[in-house]
Amino acid sequence: MLGSTKIYGCLADPIDHVKAPTIFTSIFKEKNINAVMIPIHVDKDNLENVIASLKKIKNFEGMTVTIPHKTSVTNLCDYLEPDAQFTQSVNWIKFDKNRKLIGNNFDGQGFVTGFKSQNFVLKNKKICLFGAGGAAVSIACSLAREQIKFIKIINRDLQKAIILKKKINLINKDIDIEITNHKDNYLLSDCDIVINATSLGLHKNDKLPFDVNETKHQSVIADIIMQPVETELLKQAKNLCRSVHYGKYMIESQIDLVGNFLDLW
Ligand code: NDP
Repeated sequence: MLGSTKIYGCLADPIDHVKAPTIFTSIFKEKNINAVMIPIHVDKDNLENVIASLKKIKNFEGMTVTIPHKTSVTNLCDYLEPDAQFTQSVNWIKFDKNRKLIGNNFDGQGFVTGFKSQNFVLKNKKICLFGAGGAAVSIACSLAREQIKFIKIINRDLQKAIILKKKINLINKDIDIEITNHKDNYLLSDCDIVINATSLGLHKNDKLPFDVNETKHQSVIADIIMQPVETELLKQAKNLCRSVHYGKYMIESQIDLVGNFLDLW
């Protein structure tokens, strides 16, 4: 590290599971960019103060933002790029030359690009999405631009699923949308792709978000959890001979998009 090294941060609470500082610091090294990314453990109550302080650090260029700050940080940005504005969720922030905060969100595009990079198809597919939190909203909005046929949103808080349905309809009126509370009866065998976009799977003793036995044999089971790489859900899916899609592709596919946003590569 040099005096001229640029600093990027990764804001989260909890922080131990985050992968971004390792991934981005090694990309900076590979690409010969004089920068590092550090983990910044900050709780909800101190988010505003921390952001205000980071603004004053002149070699602090930007940060990635994750649980639980993606929504609350939108209110602290001076400008939101269209995907962040639409989803009201931010996963990257940069400071411009006037130290204004610009928020963006690459989660949805990252999922779609990563999924297609593994030669899976989205067009005309029937999709079931578990979750209606920050990541799920971004994914659903990006899926809505992919000519999918149908989406079933299953969430614990039904109100969030209702709001998400309205957002999807604003993007694409032709998609059939069904919403269900996760405690109600639902069918999975009518879907080609089933995505876990809840935080279930992050912790060792988490229950499975759904029973893979109920999905059809030809379905693809996708998880967005990155740590562990192979979640219990994906282990069950592999044991039942389903195609699986790992959470790591979602973040790996964001790297090019982030480089453009930060003007680094
Ligand atoms: P949010 O806190 O915004 O949303 C969490 C979602 O999980 C909500 O839908 C919530 O339901 C649901 N949920 C949480 N606990 C339970 C439970 N016990 N039972 C049922 N549902 C539950 O988080 P994010 O959307 O930002 O992130 C979700 C996960 O995705 C995280 O684990 C994160 O690590 C991962 N992620 C991965 C990325 C990648 O690049 N691979 C990128 C972004 C996130 P409810 O609405 O009812 O509370």
